[in-house]
Amino acid sequence: MKLFTNKKKLQKEIKNINNIGFVPTMGSLHKGHENLIKKSVRESKKTIVSIFVNPKQFDNKEDFKNYPKSYKNDIKILKRLRVNYLYKPHYNDVYKFKTKNKIFLDRFSNKLCGQYRKGHFRGVINIVNRLLEITKPKKIFLGNKDFQQLILIKKHIRKNKISTKVIPCKTIRDKNFVAYSSRLKKLKNYEKTNLIKIIKVLKNYKKNLILKKVNHNFFKIKNKLLFLGAKKVDYVEIIDSKTLKKPKKNNTKFNLFFAFYIGKIRLIDNF
Ligand code: AMP
Repeated sequence: MKLFTNKKKLQKEIKNINNIGFVPTMGSLHKGHENLIKKSVRESKKTIVSIFVNPKQFDNKEDFKNYPKSYKNDIKILKRLRVNYLYKPHYNDVYKFKTKNKIFLDRFSNKLCGQYRKGHFRGVINIVNRLLEITKPKKIFLGNKDFQQLILIKKHIRKNKISTKVIPCKTIRDKNFVAYSSRLKKLKNYEKTNLIKIIKVLKNYKKNLILKKVNHNFFKIKNKLLFLGAKKVDYVEIIDSKTLKKPKKNNTKFNLFFAFYIGKIRLIDNF
């Protein structure tokens, strides 16, 4: 695997490759990232993984500073998965150039996390657009766990007529149905136990919604999660992932989207 911290050098290396798979990450890699990377390696001639903790998408300085890092282990994983290129830029390398495309933020950005993290999605689209302009991949591999992010990137790509295909990848979970997430490494043991209970309750809640045993009531489910040890609950919502709206009355094809804090760690997921 070749490591690049300089975009010009990376671009020189890849200029004649026409089937590049790209997996953007913030590092601290886990089985969820591995799934995206494996798919890219299978489907592409060469795979580029980027590791960049993007300050512009953090609405909280403390959260940015404390974001978990495990560079040595990341390198091991990337080598094991036979990734061709790692792009690990410094701030100026990605931010000190004028972009061709304009940031397009679809109005779906105002929902879910957009209501609670000011400037977050603008920061995400900004960095992803820059990384796409640098790497010009045929495909970009993104996780369904961050569904809103995936949709907004798709909309930005379409609006700017960028010739990169978005490949959505399934969410990878542990045996307790908890989605792998870099931030989980920061949880204390008792917080992990609480998280497992919370996910179990949410899974059951969704089942009961589908069976129409209960109607969705945010305040009720929120209080349940608070009782189980969540510190704060931003939202629990049901959304049809096709229409991006509340499901019609008899439509049971929806996902439960949620964001809550355990201690200082904010977790999001949907299923
Ligand atoms: P991050 O490093 O958290 O910015 O995530 C980089 C990519 O990995 C994003 O496209 C995420 O949606 C994806 N991802 C994160 N966690 C998981 C997971 N548990 N399963 C599948 N994909 C994931």
